[in-house]
Amino acid sequence: MILFKRANELTDYIRQQRSAGRKIGFVPTMGALHQGHLSLIEISGKNKNLTVCSIFINPTQFNDPKDFQKYPITIEKDIYLLEKKGTDILFLPSDEEIYPGGTANMQHFELGYLETVLEGKYRPGHFQGVCQVMHRLLRIIEPDHLYMGQKDYQQCMVVKRLLQIMQSEIIFHTCDTMREPDGLAMSSRNKRLNDVDRKKAVGIFETLLYLKKNVRPGDLSSLLDTARAMLAEKDFKVDYVEIADAETLEPAHQWNGQQKIVALTAAFLNEVRLIDNMILNS
Ligand code: AMP
Repeated sequence: MILFKRANELTDYIRQQRSAGRKIGFVPTMGALHQGHLSLIEISGKNKNLTVCSIFINPTQFNDPKDFQKYPITIEKDIYLLEKKGTDILFLPSDEEIYPGGTANMQHFELGYLETVLEGKYRPGHFQGVCQVMHRLLRIIEPDHLYMGQKDYQQCMVVKRLLQIMQSEIIFHTCDTMREPDGLAMSSRNKRLNDVDRKKAVGIFETLLYLKKNVRPGDLSSLLDTARAMLAEKDFKVDYVEIADAETLEPAHQWNGQQKIVALTAAFLNEVRLIDNMILNS
């Protein structure tokens, strides 16, 4: 694995590789890597790409400064795991490499409705930050394929929108959510759960499964009320539990039994905010 810290050196190297016929697969991360991240690396590798992983804790996407300060950093272990998984290139930029002009006057991306609901509503500015870092990383790496996790369902939609805005031909791959044996979606933030909360955290997965098993055509509001109560019972402070159209994220208040729908939730256990989602009819 080759480690790059400078954007221009990485761009030069990747261009040479592309001229030599390689396809470039890109997996952006914020580090504190787990099997979820590594599954994306594996998929890129299996597709015979030259696989580039970035680790950059992007300051502009944290709406909560405490979350930013407490974001776990495990860089030595990350390097070991990436190398073991066959990653070709690790990009480890400084803030200056990503934001050479600082972060004061950043470009605004027109995300429309997507930015006003769910994560967009509860984390103002978050998706602008995601687009800012992704825009820069995609310009540096110029990948053929981009691999991101369904775990961050709305983020996948936002980045697909960014690719449209950029008129990009990059092929976007939404990859399955990797889970712990009890069903908890793997997340770097799980490391911050204390032992008691770690046991309770499976409540999110159980609630999503409950929705999947019990969803019926018609009005969905009482089903959602039950889901909120299930989480509250396990001491979650719920930001949202919603069922939405899987393609647009428009809320699905009524379900006709045909429309593809997804349940999405975000909830706190003490200070730790967890998100997860599940397609309900697949
Ligand atoms: P992050 O480091 O949290 O920014 O995540 C980097 C990438 O890994 C994003 O595309 C995430 O959606 C993806 N990811 C995070 N957790 C999982 C998971 N449990 N399963 C699959 N992909 C994941």
